[in-house]
Amino acid sequence: MKQLVITIDGPSGAGKSTAARLLAERLDYTYVDTGALYRAVALAARDKGCPPDDDAGLHEICLNLNLTFKRMGGELRIHANGNDISQRIRDPEVSMIASAVSARPVVRKHLLGVQRAMGKNGGVVFEGRDMGTVVFPEADLKFYLDANPQIRTIRRYRELVAKGLRVSLNQIAQDIRKRDENDSHRRLAPLRQPRDAIRIDSSHLTMEEVIRIMLEKAKARLSII
Ligand code: C5P
Repeated sequence: MKQLVITIDGPSGAGKSTAARLLAERLDYTYVDTGALYRAVALAARDKGCPPDDDAGLHEICLNLNLTFKRMGGELRIHANGNDISQRIRDPEVSMIASAVSARPVVRKHLLGVQRAMGKNGGVVFEGRDMGTVVFPEADLKFYLDANPQIRTIRRYRELVAKGLRVSLNQIAQDIRKRDENDSHRRLAPLRQPRDAIRIDSSHLTMEEVIRIMLEKAKARLSII
């Protein structure tokens, strides 16, 4: 049977990661969290003291960064040059740097190739900001997952607290506002709903309801190709 390329785009805290992971699990597909790739570049830039607008430094970092995903007990872990950085990339400071480095063409160009290589055989659910618009404009099935900003703030807060990070609700609200602004207004590959995407507002839906909608659409798509 053909293996689909499925994309899920949307703003921070809309539930993309959980939805993509569960959808991939149910379809027995691979799940790729592309935000983790941008975060990995951001973390390396911070560790090396490279400012987020130093294109030559970022280029060097990208060339020397071997990024791989590993599934461990249903969880997706990201490794950079063999080291598990899954926890470190969730630091709120890294989130803000990720938003800044992701606006640099040199970083986007490099990660475009990395992501396309991961999708070449299908059977993948990609989650990010420009999956359906730029990276996989020909994807078999596209979703745009959204939720209102207050709900996204609370979700992100709970997620970080559950991961053992000490954060304040106000800080998260501010970060989400700033990242929404950066991600939607940057010149290159801004966050946009792809024209042919199915929009799901998850504000008042449970994750199970979101997955049910996505699975139905995936099955419908599989039945006609
Ligand atoms: O999804 P997540 O919050 O982990 O993404 C971190 C940052 O990486 C985002 O704020 C965004 O700036 C950037 N990003 C991107 N394109 C993607 C995925 C993430 O620009 N496809």
